[in-house]
Amino acid sequence: MTAAEPLLEVEGLTTTFDTETGELTAVDGIDFAVGEGETVCIVGESGSGKTVATESLTRIVREPPGRVEGSVRFDGRDLLTLSEPELRRVRGNEIAHVFQNPQEALNHCYTVGWQIVEALRVHRDVSEAAARARAVDLLDRVGIGNASARFDDYPHELSGGEKQRAVIAMALVGDPDLLIADEPTSALDVTVQAQILKLLDGLQEEFGTAVLFVTHDLGVVAQIADRIVVMYAGKVMERGDVLDVFERPAHPYTRRLLSCVPGIGGTDGGIPGELPDPRDPPAGCRFAPRCAHAERACRTGGQPEELAVNPGQRVSCVLYRDGWDPTVVRDDPLDPNPDPESNSDPDPESNSDPDPESNGVSSTDD
Ligand code: SF4
Repeated sequence: MTAAEPLLEVEGLTTTFDTETGELTAVDGIDFAVGEGETVCIVGESGSGKTVATESLTRIVREPPGRVEGSVRFDGRDLLTLSEPELRRVRGNEIAHVFQNPQEALNHCYTVGWQIVEALRVHRDVSEAAARARAVDLLDRVGIGNASARFDDYPHELSGGEKQRAVIAMALVGDPDLLIADEPTSALDVTVQAQILKLLDGLQEEFGTAVLFVTHDLGVVAQIADRIVVMYAGKVMERGDVLDVFERPAHPYTRRLLSCVPGIGGTDGGIPGELPDPRDPPAGCRFAPRCAHAERACRTGGQPEELAVNPGQRVSCVLYRDGWDPTVVRDDPLDPNPDPESNSDPDPESNSDPDPESNGVSSTDD
């Protein structure tokens, strides 16, 4: 896909929470962009900051204890400078959220049709009859059969997949330019998951909506993404066109994530070690305690500056300071596809066994 015009441009996004045990920086100065009509996936393990990052865009994180800083330019405005009433007009109208659990997004005391009508009337000055007709149309478009009859169903009368379809219908009432979908399929079984992904893909084509999709599942990314942003411990590790990143993953963390996905080259089930404590992150690269390639330069000076390894593909790793070299990460003893020819000589202090005492494997599941 050719690079689309940025609809959303995020710069230096930082979200901090005051907690009883100290200040916690969940998202630490990240940048990314979403073009009109494109799908960008933010991926990473649970705790990597991807959900907080997307909830910070329209400031639905609670402030306080949260504090959101940086710049979120959307359609010519910085959302972080808008007043709460101005932001409310953006939410639901121009930017809509779909969350992981449709159970929590629906009120079980009201019919799904009534809830869609109410959402419509918040955003549009329409008669009840027109709102009902539009709600039925939306239920139909998201694939709920016999929509005019199902309008009067209560949430408990819908299957899990139908509930998520109804939630997506509610998200579409304002004709949003950007849909932020946070793990919208992870509570669903594999068959329904595939149907919902197909639905989102079809709606994107029909409405031209850009999608920012949060997931830990690289199998889902492979199906839907134009571009990918890999997050770890509140920082961006790698970004690029999805085909480039899948074919030439550069960052050791991206490679380890891919190694967890059977079917796209992966074989095993997790990444040894754990994410760092966000109250006390490593002084250098955030991934250093788990990285088999870590060298002295990785342990100080903050997260390495992002370097371009291919047009449009950037990586935050010192291994690429001299440019793209596919051999530098092939000696990873944890890599499922090691290169026996590689002579790279990592720092003897590196964590070729990140924690020999630990059997802890941090699952990529939430
Ligand atoms: S080699 Fe260094 S900079 Fe690159 S991921 Fe490993 S620890 Fe981070």
